[in-house]
Amino acid sequence: AFTFNLLRYLVDRLRLFNDQVDTSIKVQHLMEKRATIDALTGLYNRRWFDEQFDSILNRCKKDNQSFSFIMIDIDHFKQVNDQYGHAVGDIVLHKCGEILLENARERDAAVRYGGEELSLILPSTTLEQALDIAERIRTIIEKTEFQYNKNNTLNISVSLGCSSYTGSEDKKKIMKLADDALYQAKENGRNQVRS
Ligand code: GH3
Ligand code: MG
Ligand code: MG
Repeated sequence: AFTFNLLRYLVDRLRLFNDQVDTSIKVQHLMEKRATIDALTGLYNRRWFDEQFDSILNRCKKDNQSFSFIMIDIDHFKQVNDQYGHAVGDIVLHKCGEILLENARERDAAVRYGGEELSLILPSTTLEQALDIAERIRTIIEKTEFQYNKNNTLNISVSLGCSSYTGSEDKKKIMKLADDALYQAKENGRNQVRS
Protein backbone atom coordinates (compact mmCIF):
# COMPACT_ATOMS: atom_id res chain seq x y z
CA ALA A 1 0.00 0.00 0.00
CA PHE A 2 2.84 2.34 0.86
CA THR A 3 4.56 1.79 -2.50
CA PHE A 4 1.27 2.20 -4.33
CA ASN A 5 0.53 5.49 -2.55
CA LEU A 6 4.02 6.76 -3.19
CA LEU A 7 3.72 5.89 -6.86
CA ARG A 8 0.36 7.61 -7.15
CA TYR A 9 1.76 10.67 -5.39
CA LEU A 10 4.68 10.83 -7.83
CA VAL A 11 2.42 10.39 -10.85
CA ASP A 12 0.16 13.22 -9.62
CA ARG A 13 3.18 15.47 -9.08
CA LEU A 14 4.44 14.73 -12.58
CA ARG A 15 1.03 15.45 -14.08
CA LEU A 16 0.84 18.78 -12.26
CA PHE A 17 4.33 19.67 -13.43
CA ASN A 18 3.42 18.78 -17.03
CA ASP A 19 0.28 20.92 -16.84
CA GLN A 20 2.32 23.83 -15.53
CA VAL A 21 4.86 23.53 -18.35
CA ASP A 22 1.99 23.29 -20.84
CA THR A 23 0.38 26.46 -19.49
CA SER A 24 3.66 28.32 -19.44
CA ILE A 25 4.34 27.42 -23.11
CA LYS A 26 0.83 28.61 -24.03
CA VAL A 27 1.36 31.88 -22.15
CA GLN A 28 4.71 32.34 -23.84
CA HIS A 29 3.17 31.84 -27.31
CA LEU A 30 0.39 34.29 -26.47
CA MET A 31 2.92 36.89 -25.31
CA GLU A 32 5.01 36.43 -28.45
CA LYS A 33 1.91 36.83 -30.61
CA ARG A 34 0.86 39.98 -28.73
CA ALA A 35 4.34 41.45 -29.20
CA THR A 36 4.18 41.12 -33.00
CA ILE A 37 0.47 41.59 -33.81
CA ASP A 38 -1.28 44.95 -33.77
CA ALA A 39 -4.30 44.72 -31.47
CA LEU A 40 -6.61 47.01 -33.48
CA THR A 41 -6.11 45.58 -36.97
CA GLY A 42 -4.82 42.05 -36.35
CA LEU A 43 -1.98 42.79 -38.75
CA TYR A 44 1.73 42.43 -37.98
CA ASN A 45 3.05 45.48 -36.16
CA ARG A 46 5.97 47.75 -36.91
CA ARG A 47 8.26 45.79 -34.62
CA TRP A 48 7.62 42.60 -36.60
CA PHE A 49 8.12 44.54 -39.84
CA ASP A 50 11.51 45.88 -38.71
CA GLU A 51 12.61 42.43 -37.58
CA GLN A 52 11.37 40.41 -40.57
CA PHE A 53 11.55 42.59 -43.71
CA ASP A 54 15.23 41.92 -44.39
CA SER A 55 15.03 38.19 -43.84
CA ILE A 56 12.06 37.89 -46.25
CA LEU A 57 13.88 40.00 -48.84
CA ASN A 58 17.10 38.05 -48.41
CA ARG A 59 15.32 34.74 -48.80
CA CYS A 60 13.83 35.93 -52.11
CA LYS A 61 17.26 37.08 -53.30
CA LYS A 62 18.83 33.75 -52.34
CA ASP A 63 16.08 31.79 -54.10
CA ASN A 64 16.20 34.04 -57.19
CA GLN A 65 12.60 35.02 -56.52
CA SER A 66 10.96 38.36 -57.15
CA PHE A 67 9.91 40.56 -54.23
CA SER A 68 7.44 43.43 -54.07
CA PHE A 69 6.17 45.84 -51.49
CA ILE A 70 2.97 47.92 -51.25
CA MET A 71 2.50 50.91 -48.99
CA ILE A 72 -1.16 51.79 -48.33
CA ASP A 73 -2.40 55.02 -46.78
CA ILE A 74 -6.04 55.84 -46.02
CA ASP A 75 -7.15 59.02 -47.80
CA HIS A 76 -8.24 61.96 -45.66
CA PHE A 77 -8.40 59.77 -42.58
CA LYS A 78 -8.15 62.78 -40.31
CA GLN A 79 -11.50 63.92 -41.74
CA VAL A 80 -13.07 60.57 -40.79
CA ASN A 81 -11.92 61.09 -37.20
CA ASP A 82 -13.01 64.73 -37.20
CA GLN A 83 -16.41 64.02 -38.68
CA TYR A 84 -17.35 60.72 -36.99
CA GLY A 85 -15.02 60.49 -34.01
CA HIS A 86 -11.89 58.52 -33.19
CA ALA A 87 -13.83 55.36 -32.29
CA VAL A 88 -15.36 55.24 -35.79
CA GLY A 89 -11.87 55.82 -37.21
CA ASP A 90 -10.80 52.74 -35.27
CA ILE A 91 -13.67 50.69 -36.75
CA VAL A 92 -12.56 51.74 -40.24
CA LEU A 93 -8.94 50.79 -39.49
CA HIS A 94 -10.03 47.43 -38.10
CA LYS A 95 -12.08 46.69 -41.21
CA CYS A 96 -9.20 47.71 -43.48
CA GLY A 97 -7.03 45.21 -41.62
CA GLU A 98 -9.66 42.55 -42.23
CA ILE A 99 -9.77 43.37 -45.95
CA LEU A 100 -5.99 43.09 -46.21
CA LEU A 101 -5.96 39.75 -44.39
CA GLU A 102 -8.77 38.42 -46.57
CA ASN A 103 -6.96 39.41 -49.73
CA ALA A 104 -3.42 38.49 -48.83
CA ARG A 105 -2.11 35.12 -49.98
CA GLU A 106 -0.58 32.62 -47.57
CA ARG A 107 2.95 33.83 -48.28
CA ASP A 108 2.18 37.56 -47.99
CA ALA A 109 2.58 39.60 -44.84
CA ALA A 110 0.07 42.34 -44.04
CA VAL A 111 1.45 44.96 -41.68
CA ARG A 112 0.22 48.02 -39.83
CA TYR A 113 3.25 50.12 -40.53
CA GLY A 114 2.06 53.22 -38.68
CA GLY A 115 -1.16 54.97 -37.62
CA GLU A 116 -3.26 54.69 -40.79
CA GLU A 117 -0.47 53.35 -42.96
CA LEU A 118 -0.66 49.68 -43.83
CA SER A 119 1.65 47.66 -46.03
CA LEU A 120 1.98 44.35 -47.80
CA ILE A 121 5.23 42.42 -48.12
CA LEU A 122 4.92 40.22 -51.20
CA PRO A 123 7.56 37.50 -51.68
CA SER A 124 7.77 35.84 -55.11
CA THR A 125 5.74 38.67 -56.62
CA THR A 126 6.69 40.82 -59.59
CA LEU A 127 5.89 44.53 -59.76
CA GLU A 128 3.21 43.78 -62.35
CA GLN A 129 1.53 41.30 -59.99
CA ALA A 130 1.88 43.73 -57.08
CA LEU A 131 0.14 46.43 -59.13
CA ASP A 132 -2.74 44.01 -59.77
CA ILE A 133 -3.02 43.16 -56.08
CA ALA A 134 -2.87 46.86 -55.15
CA GLU A 135 -5.57 47.75 -57.67
CA ARG A 136 -7.81 44.94 -56.38
CA ILE A 137 -7.43 46.17 -52.80
CA ARG A 138 -8.07 49.75 -53.88
CA THR A 139 -11.30 48.71 -55.62
CA ILE A 140 -12.50 46.57 -52.72
CA ILE A 141 -11.95 49.37 -50.22
CA GLU A 142 -13.57 51.92 -52.50
CA LYS A 143 -16.68 49.72 -52.74
CA THR A 144 -16.82 48.72 -49.09
CA GLU A 145 -19.62 50.14 -46.98
CA PHE A 146 -17.95 50.67 -43.62
CA GLN A 147 -20.69 50.07 -41.09
CA TYR A 148 -20.01 52.20 -38.02
CA ASN A 149 -23.33 51.72 -36.19
CA LYS A 150 -26.55 49.80 -36.59
CA ASN A 151 -27.94 51.91 -39.43
CA ASN A 152 -25.09 53.87 -40.96
CA THR A 153 -22.17 53.27 -43.25
CA LEU A 154 -19.41 55.45 -44.64
CA ASN A 155 -17.03 55.14 -47.56
CA ILE A 156 -13.33 55.74 -47.77
CA SER A 157 -10.55 55.33 -50.27
CA VAL A 158 -6.87 54.48 -50.10
CA SER A 159 -3.78 55.46 -52.04
CA LEU A 160 -1.16 52.83 -52.74
CA GLY A 161 2.51 52.90 -53.72
CA CYS A 162 4.22 49.80 -55.11
CA SER A 163 7.88 48.93 -55.45
CA SER A 164 9.97 45.87 -56.25
CA TYR A 165 13.39 44.37 -55.88
CA THR A 166 15.05 44.36 -59.29
CA GLY A 167 18.56 43.25 -58.46
CA SER A 168 20.22 45.87 -56.29
CA GLU A 169 17.74 47.61 -53.97
CA ASP A 170 17.97 47.23 -50.21
CA LYS A 171 15.16 47.63 -47.66
CA LYS A 172 15.65 51.39 -47.41
CA LYS A 173 15.51 51.85 -51.19
CA ILE A 174 12.46 49.58 -51.64
CA MET A 175 10.62 51.53 -48.96
CA LYS A 176 11.65 54.88 -50.43
CA LEU A 177 10.40 53.81 -53.88
CA ALA A 178 7.03 52.74 -52.42
CA ASP A 179 6.81 55.92 -50.39
CA ASP A 180 7.58 58.10 -53.43
CA ALA A 181 4.96 56.20 -55.44
CA LEU A 182 2.44 56.70 -52.63
CA TYR A 183 3.24 60.40 -52.62
CA GLN A 184 2.55 60.50 -56.38
CA ALA A 185 -0.78 58.72 -55.84
CA LYS A 186 -1.76 61.34 -53.26
CA GLU A 187 -0.59 64.23 -55.44
CA ASN A 188 -2.49 62.89 -58.44
CA GLY A 189 -5.79 62.98 -56.57
CA ARG A 190 -5.70 59.96 -54.18
CA ASN A 191 -7.71 56.70 -54.52
CA GLN A 192 -5.17 55.28 -56.95
CA VAL A 193 -2.16 53.00 -57.35
CA ARG A 194 1.28 54.21 -58.42
CA SER A 195 4.70 52.62 -58.76
P1 GH3 B 1 -3.99 61.95 -46.58
O1 GH3 B 1 -5.05 61.66 -47.56
O2 GH3 B 1 -3.03 62.96 -47.08
O3 GH3 B 1 -3.29 60.71 -46.12
O4 GH3 B 1 -4.71 62.63 -45.32
P2 GH3 B 1 -4.92 62.02 -43.88
O5 GH3 B 1 -5.91 62.86 -43.18
O6 GH3 B 1 -5.23 60.57 -43.98
O7 GH3 B 1 -3.47 62.13 -43.27
P3 GH3 B 1 -2.94 62.77 -41.94
O8 GH3 B 1 -1.52 62.28 -41.82
O9 GH3 B 1 -3.15 64.25 -41.95
O10 GH3 B 1 -3.82 62.18 -40.79
C1 GH3 B 1 -3.73 60.86 -40.39
C2 GH3 B 1 -4.75 60.67 -39.32
O11 GH3 B 1 -4.77 59.31 -38.89
C3 GH3 B 1 -4.46 61.48 -38.09
C4 GH3 B 1 -4.52 60.50 -36.96
O12 GH3 B 1 -5.26 60.99 -35.89
C5 GH3 B 1 -5.20 59.31 -37.56
N1 GH3 B 1 -4.86 58.06 -36.89
C6 GH3 B 1 -3.65 57.48 -36.78
N2 GH3 B 1 -3.73 56.33 -36.06
C7 GH3 B 1 -5.03 56.21 -35.69
C8 GH3 B 1 -5.75 55.23 -34.92
O13 GH3 B 1 -5.22 54.24 -34.42
N3 GH3 B 1 -7.08 55.42 -34.78
C9 GH3 B 1 -7.73 56.50 -35.32
N4 GH3 B 1 -9.05 56.60 -35.15
N5 GH3 B 1 -7.08 57.42 -36.02
C10 GH3 B 1 -5.75 57.29 -36.22
MG1 MG C 1 -0.45 58.81 -43.39
MG1 MG D 1 -3.80 59.20 -44.80
